[in-house]
Amino acid sequence: MRCPRVRAAAIDGFGDMVHYAGPAIEDVFSVIFSDQSPVTFQDKLPQAVDVVVIGGGVIGISTAWFLSRQGVSVLVCDKGRVAGEQSSRNWGWIRQQARDPAELPIVIDSINQWSVLAAELDEDIGFTRQGVLYAARDEEQMQQYERWLDVAAQHQLDTRMLSAGEVDELVKDKPGQWRGGMYTPSDGRAEPFKAVPALARAVRRQGGLIREQCAVRSVETEAGRVAAVITETGRVKTQALVCAGGAWSSLFMHNLGVNLPQLTVRATVARTTAAPDIYQGDAALGEVAIRRRQDGGYTVASSGTNEHFVGADSFRHFFKFMPALAGSVRFIRLRFSGDLMQRLFPVRRWQPDQVSPFEQTRVLNPEPSQQALREMHLGLQKRLPALADLPFAEAWAGMIDVTPDVVPVMDEVAAYPGLYLATGFSGHGFGIGPGAGRVMADMVSGKPAAYDLSRFRLSRFSDGSRMRPGPGL
Ligand SMILES: Cc1cc2nc3c(=O)[nH]c(=O)nc-3n(C[C@H](O)[C@H](O)[C@H](O)COP(=O)(O)OP(=O)(O)OC[C@H]3O[C@@H](n4cnc5c(N)ncnc54)[C@H](O)[C@@H]3O)c2cc1C
Repeated sequence: MRCPRVRAAAIDGFGDMVHYAGPAIEDVFSVIFSDQSPVTFQDKLPQAVDVVVIGGGVIGISTAWFLSRQGVSVLVCDKGRVAGEQSSRNWGWIRQQARDPAELPIVIDSINQWSVLAAELDEDIGFTRQGVLYAARDEEQMQQYERWLDVAAQHQLDTRMLSAGEVDELVKDKPGQWRGGMYTPSDGRAEPFKAVPALARAVRRQGGLIREQCAVRSVETEAGRVAAVITETGRVKTQALVCAGGAWSSLFMHNLGVNLPQLTVRATVARTTAAPDIYQGDAALGEVAIRRRQDGGYTVASSGTNEHFVGADSFRHFFKFMPALAGSVRFIRLRFSGDLMQRLFPVRRWQPDQVSPFEQTRVLNPEPSQQALREMHLGLQKRLPALADLPFAEAWAGMIDVTPDVVPVMDEVAAYPGLYLATGFSGHGFGIGPGAGRVMADMVSGKPAAYDLSRFRLSRFSDGSRMRPGPGL
């Protein structure tokens, strides 16, 4: 049943001028965490701990999981809620396909870790391997995908090209519209808003501590090494700090005098009500991307509507981001609306005894973009008519943190021995989360790295290296 309606008040995003006029958004219930969600992790601040982790997203919680499993004492502090930001808002794709070659072995480990965790965690997180499909509209796209097959083959990944008929067999809606596709059957999906809190509970069962509404403001050093962190609720002695602060990492580092080029883009997502089963996995189908959900609906996004709100950092990091922008100019919209003055002149410096910007925005909860919702709806009409008339049960947005070469930083900060960065996962950090957590736990514990991590070093932004953005597939 089709019921067009405009929901300007509820979905007004930073002053967009386009009004969503697709099927209604039903206020069923919210699965996205906000600063109104109950505080569920409130461990007492210890006096001392081996490792402090900034950020209760998938990266921070996974790092804590592997550290606590090794018997290392760990405290995770989140200024807002566990998984309040990107880690509950993402599409839920666990994708090996089309990864940067340096990330691929880590994400292969990660999906295996997801599968182990899914069996061990206290609730069903919806993990299943139903594949990732990229449908190709034309020969040019087929060739673009084919070029990645060599990378897959080097890692014995089951990625393969599909014929037009094979795509139609997988996606049971509007046959005959695809030239073919690329498909990785061993890729997976999970429910992000369940997975990360469930992993956080498991961290606690292993003795790890987690405290929500606890911003980390700064670091103290002794003889040049990290010696303590200052949180809004007190000081904690520690030898190591892992900054997994997602979209906030650059600001935290700036206050310490460390340059981390990182920008954010708003990505809008919606979920349908219960839907006919047209496909079980994750698929990019031209203008629209879908994932089958455990609740019988689909998570939907528009492939081409990510928005960057121009601010001081856009100018500061412009040249570093040029190569990435050139490759993704069709997918990024620049926005000058909303709180432009605040973005141009943000608070960048504070003292440890002052309220920090992290306490002023507990959960970054941007309004979904009406234009993106409209494009999603048009995309469904064009590509997946079986879903086009379904109401959206909920719409939300998240701020994705992006680096100039679209791969993360996983490194110790040379100027601050004992301070580690695990950030900048550039829109694909959920799937690689447990793998990255293992990398960071090994790094902090001084174990030899299982992979070549040179691509992820912080110094690539300052040592004259050319920025080589990962595959923009
Ligand atoms: C709409 C959308 C769709 C996406 N789809 C996918 C997908 O399908 N597959 C995929 O692999 N990835 C996807 N991603 C990307 C993925 O969600 C992120 O890369 C990943 O969640 C990043 O995790 P994180 O832990 O680094 O950051 P976050 O999840 O953002 O967590 C960072 C946390 O740090 C806290 N914090 C920051 N500063 C401080 C401080 N000073 N003190 C205390 N706490 C602090 C914040 O409150 C926050 O909770 C998507 C992202 C979005 C937004």
